Amino acid sequence: MAVTIQDIRVICTAPEGINLVVVKVETSEPGLYGLGCATFAYRHLAVKLVVEEYLKPLLVGRCAEDIEELWQLMHQNGYWRNGPIENNAISGVDMALWDIKGKMANMPVYQLFGGKCREGIPVYRHADGRDLEELCENIRRFQEMGITAIRCQCGGYGGEAYGQTPSTAPVGAKPGVYLDGRKYIRDTVKLFEGIRSRLGEEIQLIHDVHERIAPAEAVKLAKALEPFDLLFLEDPVPIERTEWLRDIRKNSSTPIAEGELFNHPVEWRTLITERLIDFIRVHISQIGGITPARKLQIFAEQFGVRTAWHGPGDMSPLAHAANIHIDLAAPNFGVQEWSGIEPPNFVIQELKGPHGALLEVFPGLPEFKDGYVYANDKPGLGVDLNEKEAEKYPCENTVTTWTQTRRRDGALQTP
Ligand code: MG
Repeated sequence: MAVTIQDIRVICTAPEGINLVVVKVETSEPGLYGLGCATFAYRHLAVKLVVEEYLKPLLVGRCAEDIEELWQLMHQNGYWRNGPIENNAISGVDMALWDIKGKMANMPVYQLFGGKCREGIPVYRHADGRDLEELCENIRRFQEMGITAIRCQCGGYGGEAYGQTPSTAPVGAKPGVYLDGRKYIRDTVKLFEGIRSRLGEEIQLIHDVHERIAPAEAVKLAKALEPFDLLFLEDPVPIERTEWLRDIRKNSSTPIAEGELFNHPVEWRTLITERLIDFIRVHISQIGGITPARKLQIFAEQFGVRTAWHGPGDMSPLAHAANIHIDLAAPNFGVQEWSGIEPPNFVIQELKGPHGALLEVFPGLPEFKDGYVYANDKPGLGVDLNEKEAEKYPCENTVTTWTQTRRRDGALQTP
């Protein structure tokens, strides 16, 4: 008898102060349920509403095994397609259905993708500091943990803290995160010179532009960073300006990773077929979950483009697990961003919290050990949700300020 969807619930929880959205799909089979990540931290109530008011009535009573059919059904049901709210809502259900599929097969999800082509997933970590000294100290600590690829930044993505309006801004300039593009480029080049001279050639270095400068400045930066042999330069241009990747390609051999903000296949298709990027780094809940991410990974493989999925703190351990399961089975896997969820004994206290609360809410999350992350071998995604613990950490709905990034003249700049 077919296993059908009986109920769909949304659980919002913030064990580390970041709003996480989890979707739980319950089935007609007693005890058989799936969990998925629908986290859009800055619009969590909107995603919750889409799941509860639109997807649940659409899906209850349908066969839980028909993942592709249900994905297309959710995607087309509102007539207008895509966008972060819709896609994250779909992702919550999609990941939960893959979790259910794995549990039904009694296999971890990566087995459903053809099995492992590597045993552990090499991850990169983000290091910053007030100055070169502090940054290098933080990098060394990651190296001691076995991490070989580090993303480096001085301060918070090269900008001032929110509310610190510089004296160079016009009178009456609005509060924001101020960033001077030219200064940022000078400081960044100096930073990488310093890191290479102190730490040598072996370490793999990454830098995230975070779309925070003008495209012509990004061309200049990619060229200026060439001598420092980056693993990649991350998101040098905004999603709306990806034509400029052609200019970056023409002017430098610095490898490029792009895609943290992508929503839809039309946004990455040409970048991959024309080989304008080296790494695709979408946020997989943001494109609609495991189903579209697997298709993207296989598509990118045909063109020699590698994966570097987004893996920040503002996604749940379920999404980190989904990344890892896809990575394990992907011949074109490149590197995985890891936001620092180590078992407590691995933690660098000054850099990140102890993650105890997160581990209690989400038992079974993939484990970090000596530079690699490992999925557990439980059926499905291998991550559970302790709803009683989750309740202890309610989400807060506040006005987001870090996205109010401003140029030197006070005008808003993509964050
Ligand atoms: Mg980034």
